[in-house]
Amino acid sequence: PVRRVYCVGRNYAAHAAEMGSEVDREAPFYFTKSARAVLESGGVLPYPPGTRDLHHEIELVVAIGAPAFRVPVAQAMAAVWGYGSGLDMTRRDLQAQAKAKQRPWDLGKDFEGSAVLSALTPAEGFTPQAQRIRLEVNGTPRQDARIDEMVWSVPALIADLSQYYHLVPGDLIMTGTPAGVGAVGPGDRLSGGVEGLAPVELTLGPAA
Ligand code: MN
Repeated sequence: PVRRVYCVGRNYAAHAAEMGSEVDREAPFYFTKSARAVLESGGVLPYPPGTRDLHHEIELVVAIGAPAFRVPVAQAMAAVWGYGSGLDMTRRDLQAQAKAKQRPWDLGKDFEGSAVLSALTPAEGFTPQAQRIRLEVNGTPRQDARIDEMVWSVPALIADLSQYYHLVPGDLIMTGTPAGVGAVGPGDRLSGGVEGLAPVELTLGPAA
């Protein structure tokens, strides 16, 4: 079962730029989603409440499979159970309001169905290198990058997070999105993922 969902902010320079920010190259930063936010790939997400600007963010997901606390980068990959494709769905208008008021991002990021996850591929079958990461909406390309564009690599993220948390099996890390995020609405069909991993699919339903 999913225990915690950690999400990385601004991990691709081109996405940070499109959001009007710069990458912090001194340290990554994080926000979280509750385990109740997880929705399996192939599901329908009712258009969520309180927003008029729901965005897609396609991401590489890392599943932790062994305890990790204060691990060095060189040992961090031993904590990985596997990988998946995920969508960090975002109420961008609420996130923007929170940023403007210097408030937490929870309302923008942590809501039911906001963490859409594919099936996981065990680490023996996938090594993060320069695989493509893509997202299409109704068959039209929206996001297309390579995961080696990440500012903070998978082992760097695990090593850093483990300075602050005792990572354990069931914890997931959504590693940030490349450029090309944008709005989606009821009836849209999202399909994407990381080359070599199971795809993530999502259909948006009418507001619940
Ligand atoms: Mn994200």
